[in-house]
Amino acid sequence: MHRHQPRMASKRHALGTIGEFGLIRQLQRQWPTSSPRVLKSIGDDAAILKTVPGQQLLLSTDAFVEGVHFDCTFQTLRDVGFRAGVANLSDIAAMGGQPLYLLVSLAVPTSVPAQHIRLLYRGIREACGSHRVALIGGDTSSSPRDIFLSLTIVGTIPANCALTRSGAHVGDHLYVTGTLGDARAGLHILQTRPRWPQQSRLSVPEQFLTQRHLRPTPRIGIGQILAARGMAHAAIDLSDGLSGDIGHICDNSQVGVEIWANAVPLSSHLHTFARHHHLDPVDFALRGGDDYELLFTARARHHTHVMALSRRTGVPIAWIGEIKPKHFGQRLTSPQGRLRALVQKSYRHFVA
Ligand code: ADP
Ligand code: MG
Repeated sequence: MHRHQPRMASKRHALGTIGEFGLIRQLQRQWPTSSPRVLKSIGDDAAILKTVPGQQLLLSTDAFVEGVHFDCTFQTLRDVGFRAGVANLSDIAAMGGQPLYLLVSLAVPTSVPAQHIRLLYRGIREACGSHRVALIGGDTSSSPRDIFLSLTIVGTIPANCALTRSGAHVGDHLYVTGTLGDARAGLHILQTRPRWPQQSRLSVPEQFLTQRHLRPTPRIGIGQILAARGMAHAAIDLSDGLSGDIGHICDNSQVGVEIWANAVPLSSHLHTFARHHHLDPVDFALRGGDDYELLFTARARHHTHVMALSRRTGVPIAWIGEIKPKHFGQRLTSPQGRLRALVQKSYRHFVA
């Protein structure tokens, strides 16, 4: 919702008029689910799903709070839904799985127009892209002031193929997909640009960076190939930023890491942004946040296969460092060749 799209709806279309069950019926129509594995979907006390022999289930949930994870003064609810969907799908991508089912819980002020909730679901559905994800349930509540959203995703993976944070080995190469820092730069642009009606046109770099924030890509295909072929030892999706997220792999795998600043992949548009704001682009990319790229480790002898995978899929993959013994710690080699401790600068809740 933009500020110029008033949240107050005409009485006829507000949630207060169609009510909880009217809304659920509308959502059900908007997102019909037909899959032979879904025996019961929306409409009963619980969904019933068929399990498949030889497959394991992956489950993950994410909460999105207005004022913490999104800001309706510069994002539409369609944007909010899209990003929430991607955050959820990205967790399945990081395990190497196939996303299949989604549950959505909502708490919304009564004054929100039902149409805006349909836009929210449209965004979620767009994030699912060509992956046939079925909406199989959720919960709906009123909220006194802000919008609260919780998405739960169910995925599957062939038994014992899942990529975890704990599988990295000393000597592994460290890789990352895409470019880093773009989404955070895009968020900065959205937060600081003048609000409608004084809104100016965005430059080409600004358009690119804001799109990277509003429309990130979950790396599902790459994750699945890495897992199914046993090419990766460990993986995580970058939601908080490289400098923090690599720490989860190191802690869980009991290893250290060396990252080469020179090798961190940056878009030309991030370089432009950083020059303009007198920022170090690598430092900015390390803080990152919401890139939803995949960070993974693989045996050195798989290097040519990893590079071939990048060429075949068209998804850029950069070799950015190496897994070291735990006592080495987590370090960054500067472009000048100096080795220093990797400072954790990613986003954390409850930290000022
Ligand atoms: P219960 O009283 O058992 O919690 P509800 O009346 O809350 O059931 O929900 C009725 C059905 O609608 C359930 O199948 C539930 O999963 C589904 N549902 C409720 N809210 C949503 C929502 N926001 N999105 C998708 N499905 C929903
Ligand atoms: Mg309920």
